[in-house]
Amino acid sequence: MTTAQDSHIAKSSANCDDFDRTMAHGERTMSLMRQLRMPPTPRNYEILYAFTTSANRELSDALREALQADACLTDEAAERIYNKFIAKKNFSEHVDEVGSKVSRQMSDIMTVIEDAYRRAGDYGESIQGVNQKLSRIESPQQLKQVLEEVFETTSDMAKYNKVLEERLAESKTQIDELQMKLELTRVESFTDELTGLTNRKRFDQALELEMTEAVESSHPLCLLLLDIDYFKKFNDTHGHQTGDQVLRLVAHTMKTNVKGRDCAARYGGEEFAILLPKTSINNAMTLAEQIRIAVKSKELVKKSTNESLGHVTLSIGVSCYRPGETAMEFIERADKCLYAAKETGRDNVQSEDANIQGLIKNDAA
Ligand code: GH3
Ligand code: MG
Ligand code: MG
Repeated sequence: MTTAQDSHIAKSSANCDDFDRTMAHGERTMSLMRQLRMPPTPRNYEILYAFTTSANRELSDALREALQADACLTDEAAERIYNKFIAKKNFSEHVDEVGSKVSRQMSDIMTVIEDAYRRAGDYGESIQGVNQKLSRIESPQQLKQVLEEVFETTSDMAKYNKVLEERLAESKTQIDELQMKLELTRVESFTDELTGLTNRKRFDQALELEMTEAVESSHPLCLLLLDIDYFKKFNDTHGHQTGDQVLRLVAHTMKTNVKGRDCAARYGGEEFAILLPKTSINNAMTLAEQIRIAVKSKELVKKSTNESLGHVTLSIGVSCYRPGETAMEFIERADKCLYAAKETGRDNVQSEDANIQGLIKNDAA
């Protein structure tokens, strides 16, 4: 027979085992991170930790494949792996958690309602009993007894109703909280964590919807693809964390320049997209220019040292939807324009329409 002390010892030795095992995984993760020269960000740590523990076979395969292709894990590959195997899992875990809390609340409410139903029945029966007793009353003493009984039952019922009210109010508060959590999780699921912009998954959905809408309404639909120029060099010079700040700055500039149904998204590592429903190609080009100049005109300053890091510039490709084409074709045309913008010296906006290109290429800013 094991004593309480034995089981405590067994528990602590199990905890020690867990601790040793976790530490060993942690050390292997850090050593792999050094070996791959990956910055020790929480995201990279999560990916490599999952790899060293072999917790997720698909993630491990994807990581091996990415490493075979590039010898080191690029940011794009890390982000892709994280979004596919970790972030997605976290999201469904959130939904599962909220879902099970909601069903627990529902089952609590059902118990309360069943109890209330049973008590209301009992109360009804007891009032009916009083009715019969009243018809048989022969003395004031008996009347007093029956009235006392009614008073007691009614006051019990009133007390119970109060408890019931409180329990229902409590459940309502908890359900309201869960609803808020669910909404937050929903918003998180289509938001890019680093920049707060719409993420790629949501952007792809919005694109399909807007394409259908454009065909039905015959309104023009434009697409901007934006890419930071020489961003790898910026990261190499100033560090990845500072690079992340630049991504936030570009995202903020995009957000402040779009409105209404426009959808500003982080399309990939340092690439962004803006979908512009009911917008002509001319207006789309003007907006692209506005964003390009706004980003270029911001002097980047390192917060910790106040050191000036200069400026970053954007190259932007613009395409206008042609009814009947697929989302891929639409994006590819914007991508070709982006490529043309890179080819023509970067820091400029290009569209397929040669006339428009001539109109706004090269600002004085
Ligand atoms: P180009 O002018 O041709 O666009 O050159 P580039 O250096 O910007 O392009 P390239 O595609 O070679 O490099 C993109 C770089 O973007 C590589 C990577 O370091 C950086 N990057 C991608 N995602 C992130 C991120 O989430 N954070 C940071 N800081 N950098 C990122
Ligand atoms: Mg790029
Ligand atoms: Mg770039």
